[in-house]
Amino acid sequence: MSTVAAPAPTFPLADYKPLDNETLASRIQAVREQMGSELLILGHHYQQDEVIALSDLRGDSYQLSQMAAESSDCRYIAFCGVHFMAETADILANRPEKVAERGSRVTVVLPDMAAGCSMADMAAIDQVEAAWADLGEVIGTDDVTPVTYINSAASLKAFCGRHGGIVCTSSNAAAVLEWAFRRTSRVLFFPDQHLGRNTALKMGITNEQMPVWDPYNSDLGGNSEESLQQSKVILWKGHCSVHQMFRPEHVHGLRERIPDIKILVHPECPQEVNDLADVSGSTGTIIRTVEAAPPGTKWAIGTELHLVNRLKQEHPEQEIHFLSPVICMCATMYRIDLAHLCWSLENLAAGTPVNVIEVDEETARWSLAALERMLKVK
Ligand code: SF4
Repeated sequence: MSTVAAPAPTFPLADYKPLDNETLASRIQAVREQMGSELLILGHHYQQDEVIALSDLRGDSYQLSQMAAESSDCRYIAFCGVHFMAETADILANRPEKVAERGSRVTVVLPDMAAGCSMADMAAIDQVEAAWADLGEVIGTDDVTPVTYINSAASLKAFCGRHGGIVCTSSNAAAVLEWAFRRTSRVLFFPDQHLGRNTALKMGITNEQMPVWDPYNSDLGGNSEESLQQSKVILWKGHCSVHQMFRPEHVHGLRERIPDIKILVHPECPQEVNDLADVSGSTGTIIRTVEAAPPGTKWAIGTELHLVNRLKQEHPEQEIHFLSPVICMCATMYRIDLAHLCWSLENLAAGTPVNVIEVDEETARWSLAALERMLKVK
């Protein structure tokens, strides 16, 4: 965890829990007015509506970090997302040239430290290093490029930076894999097997060429030497607990009930769902696809519930269904409620910031190397 030791908070969290949302919202608004353009509240698309309503910027994790990093006034970021997103914001906003330009660091806070990401947690740096060492013995790693999805800890991004690798997002994963294949003939892709598989399948790579590395299997991640030698993409056995819940039977059920419905899913969904979809794409693609569709279009959308509900509210001219009959929401992101946001902002304004996310210099430097490689990929 990239955190820093901080002085005791001026205001204890327990004082905020009993407050109603109206009171919390007006106190948050007061801090926003007091701190002005020095404070940016970033709201990820999967956040609850009350938090989005008080956010200065709304977007996916990378967009938000980049927008905040480009702001010349910003000195404080409250990232209403999950831990790896706040780390990325810290890395991008505190690039050495940016710190020199503005004369100070940007303080990044995560309103609730329990807001982690189950997918990011499925690849720990010691597991990735162990896998890399094993691969080195069997197939050698000179001809392997490590690629990490942006939904990963800074330590994994730094691993990629150190080993000539790169970061990808769900919108540029294909271009990043093409870049990697110009460099080496194999890729180690982590932590999301589904994004890696769905992207590589579209490039003509077969499932037989994509063994899955299980970090809990000490025998070559559960693979034979032969399958690793024949591999093109070695997929990490990780997934998003939200998108993993969409199933092919949900697609079939909706198509039976509503024959002209279009299925729109995120590539973190499993292959069986992705293959059945009319459109598969990043959060940004999902939003743009709905925005561009003619009135009366019928959609079943397979991504996080809060985003789908917001699209429903914002596009009453279309018929939008949630793809799954059960609730699929990002429970960790949901932890960031108005009580935590108000608590973190009032402590920030009082000069006793809580839950500060600060990536150590070495990790930030190598993470940035991998992120900058991604930025150059067209
Ligand atoms: S939706 Fe999935 S990948 Fe995104 S933050 Fe939540 S657990 Fe992580």
